[in-house]
Amino acid sequence: MIKLYNTLTRKKEDFIPISDKQVTMYSCGPTVYNYAHIGNMRAYIFMDSVRRTLRYLGYKIKGVMNITDVGHLLSDGDDGEDKMAKASREQQKSVYEIAEKYTKAFMDDLNKLNIGKPEIIAKATDHIPEMLDYVVKLVEKGYGYETSDGIYFDISKFPSYGKLSGLSLDNQIAGARVDVNDEKRHPADFALWKKADPNHIMQWESPWGMGYPGWHIECSAMSKKYLGSRFDIHTGGVDHIPVHHENEIAQSEALEGHQTVNYWMHGEFMQVDGGKMSKSLGNTYTVSDLERMGYSPMDFRYFCLNTHYRKTLNFTFNALDAAKTAYLRLLTALNEHRKSDKKTDGEVLSRYDDEFTAAISDDINIPLGIGVLWSMLKEPASEDIYDLALKFDRVLGLRLDSKLPEPESVDAPAEVIELASKRLEARKNKDFALSDKLRDEIAALGYGIIDKKDGFELKKL
Ligand code: AMP
Ligand code: ZN
Repeated sequence: MIKLYNTLTRKKEDFIPISDKQVTMYSCGPTVYNYAHIGNMRAYIFMDSVRRTLRYLGYKIKGVMNITDVGHLLSDGDDGEDKMAKASREQQKSVYEIAEKYTKAFMDDLNKLNIGKPEIIAKATDHIPEMLDYVVKLVEKGYGYETSDGIYFDISKFPSYGKLSGLSLDNQIAGARVDVNDEKRHPADFALWKKADPNHIMQWESPWGMGYPGWHIECSAMSKKYLGSRFDIHTGGVDHIPVHHENEIAQSEALEGHQTVNYWMHGEFMQVDGGKMSKSLGNTYTVSDLERMGYSPMDFRYFCLNTHYRKTLNFTFNALDAAKTAYLRLLTALNEHRKSDKKTDGEVLSRYDDEFTAAISDDINIPLGIGVLWSMLKEPASEDIYDLALKFDRVLGLRLDSKLPEPESVDAPAEVIELASKRLEARKNKDFALSDKLRDEIAALGYGIIDKKDGFELKKL
């Protein structure tokens, strides 16, 4: 039985799906106004770990992820320009071009990081009728009211508002922005639908004139469409807990009259050098940035997986270097097992198999699972170990069947090449003492030597 930490109850709970046929899961996806940074990608590696673990344990999954291409305003409250509209203005491209460009870049990052795509990818602008229908129903039920700039959700009608974050309404008010909209009945009331001024870049007809949906309604309307009025798991980043997910809960439960999500799961944030990632600090790296600096997506994935999803992960280049080295050691250790034709005792194998399953079943404890893998690789080389490691990789997604990367050959100075040529001669003559001495001399000049069948390659140490 797998246990999952449920943000709603603040406890690890036994996971009991609604249907034994398939698990239904909704994940808040990206707003496609910019390249996703490595912090964002941590959130999707977390989503992927949940999906892979459930599948490994035998569940089928129907997963939905939204692509937000309208309605996400600069603040998670309802102020400021639409993020998409701002990007369109600044980059002198249509909103649709912006959405297409960054959706593609996001999908490329998913592929690079070996993150499996959810079964349904739902674009917000493809679901305007569903959202409008949702808002109309909420207004009919008395949960929505009109102001001069939109339709707002009346949180006073939903007394359990705040139950996910555990923040009282007073705290919510204190946290709400100061420039409160006068017409709102309560500072934490939020927009279901915004009225558009004539030159607003994206707008649709509605019973209240031209406008566009609020960000929160997207997730409620799309999860209902694809997963029904009650589903198993909802994931997102911890930043979504106090506003976006409280608002989703308010909308969905107001409409349905019952709880709609059984398990709320949230991934912790990534920091950089112990602080926030932000454009102004120039530390919002992308996966492509890391690649340009010589780190593979798998180095980064390995780095992420070594911290449990509910812990803050501090990104530093030192830590990424350590992860890169460890990942290479992992592939090297695996290679020894791959080459072997020996067997391992069945009991030993099933002990590791069970330990791995126990680790991931305890609230997706991937770091512990990686620990089990490392212990297992210390066993004498055997093809069975290799096969079992590949089975674990269905959860880890670390492409453990990859070939060891070929060390890069470099242009070395003539002096080094001469020593290496002498060494090749020595090896041919089986003069291993001389060969070792020459290797040391080459190392002293800062170069490593990799022996090839009829030659050598040099690399910088
Ligand atoms: P956004 O595109 O801004 O809506 O964010 C996409 C996802 O990335 C959300 O699930 C956020 O919770 C998550 N996210 C944003 N910043 C970070 C971060 N520094 N670390 C981890 N996740 C983040
Ligand atoms: Zn969402």
